[in-house]
Amino acid sequence: MSLEIREILRIAEARLREAGCPDPKRDAEELMCHMMDFDRSRFFMKLGDVLSENGCENYFQLIDLRATRKPLQYIVGSQEFMGLNFKVDPSVLIPRQDTETLVEAALEHMKSGAPLGGWRVLDVGTGSGAIAVSICAKESAARAMASDISPEALGLAAANAAAAGVSSRVKFVLSDMFDGLGTGGRFHFVLSNPPYVKRQDLPFLQEEVSGHEPAIALDGGVDGLDFYRILARDAARRLKKRGRILLEIGFDQAEQVRELFEETGRYEEFAVKKDLAGHDRVFSALLKA
Ligand code: GLN
Repeated sequence: MSLEIREILRIAEARLREAGCPDPKRDAEELMCHMMDFDRSRFFMKLGDVLSENGCENYFQLIDLRATRKPLQYIVGSQEFMGLNFKVDPSVLIPRQDTETLVEAALEHMKSGAPLGGWRVLDVGTGSGAIAVSICAKESAARAMASDISPEALGLAAANAAAAGVSSRVKFVLSDMFDGLGTGGRFHFVLSNPPYVKRQDLPFLQEEVSGHEPAIALDGGVDGLDFYRILARDAARRLKKRGRILLEIGFDQAEQVRELFEETGRYEEFAVKKDLAGHDRVFSALLKA
């Protein structure tokens, strides 16, 4: 039995809808493009083509996998972030558009002109490397140290740095938050998208997230603030004077995170930036001189 691609897409879409996938049409199309190595423009010219039986079988294997609610990005192995292609696998959180707000805010602060020797950036809990790698790719005067507690994540992040052509400017370090940074010196910027979901909320996230993304990258403890406490306690030791910390936060965490940093007495110029959906998403503060 041979079917036209448009017909196969219809069947796949129905199957994914039944499995509860939030965007079944897009996923069916994306997986077809992935398997056939089509880009979007070529895809629309191929809808009338007939797929071989073998092709059909391979395609429905991908659809079956997606029907388990495994994220599309883990199946195709990549996610676009800041216009760059990042490899992803289940050892890392899939980079979110929300996090581009953090990267853009940091890049904005770098526009004023780099200090002698360039900007030094620390990305704590880098995961796929999305923050450190995209900053170095967009700002040639930036060098980054990127840490993670997961060796698997660091391997992937290093591959992403190489693909973006910034390997010589990003140093990867195996470290639990600030504990393993050694003599990394001080930085102009400390950036992080730490785990910030309240532990009891984890099971209620979308199935793709709760069932497949690494809990270690999401679980912020009972009140979701565990990692902000560590950041408020330890980041000052890694920041240069008048260095800036920028952190991704949950939509309802701005007030509490600000309090944690205010309590230390070390910071000023507190600011919160919203994401494209209008939610509070990036907290920033300046280390006093
Ligand atoms: N934005 C993620 C989510 O809720 C959480 C990311 C994080 O904990 N750093 O899907």
